[in-house]
Amino acid sequence: MTVAIAAILQESNTFSPVTTRYQDFSPVFGEAALERHRGKATEMGGFIDALTAARMPSLPVCAAWAITAGRMIREDFDRLARGFERQLARVRKPDALLLALHGAQTAEGVDDVAGALLASARRVLGGAVPIVVTLDLHANVTRAMATQATALVGITPTPTSIFTKPGEGRAAPSADPCWSASR
Ligand SMILES: [Zn+2]
Repeated sequence: MTVAIAAILQESNTFSPVTTRYQDFSPVFGEAALERHRGKATEMGGFIDALTAARMPSLPVCAAWAITAGRMIREDFDRLARGFERQLARVRKPDALLLALHGAQTAEGVDDVAGALLASARRVLGGAVPIVVTLDLHANVTRAMATQATALVGITPTPTSIFTKPGEGRAAPSADPCWSASR
């Protein structure tokens, strides 16, 4: 079983006058996403560890993270979403997608970035491939997210509690969810 992995993470603050730009995410695609996160206490690092332990190849799609700010400039969001969709299409027939989205990102004219990215993923993967999404506990879970994801998993927000269990080293975030829903 091969699993595509991706992370596009930001918590928007729509009261902030500071807009978010493409470069604020420092996005990387393909193998560079693995190189950035392998061995790190991040959601992607947890995905990589869990898949490695299960002897399942990780197929890296992208990794992008931006600090909290206002809505993302629309053309920059479109560029990021296009990059995600294009790279996902390059991954050869994954059996599943693990996607870290946080669940509270907005762009100009897009209140539900997570739902929009899931729609991109479904366009590429079709309806049958499982898509499991990790979200912050305060994610704004929408109908678009719930209908397009196979499972939504809420994880604790502090890195030390998400990714490390005492005595066990790093754990996959999905191994210790605070809440989850699946269809
Ligand atoms: Zn958050």
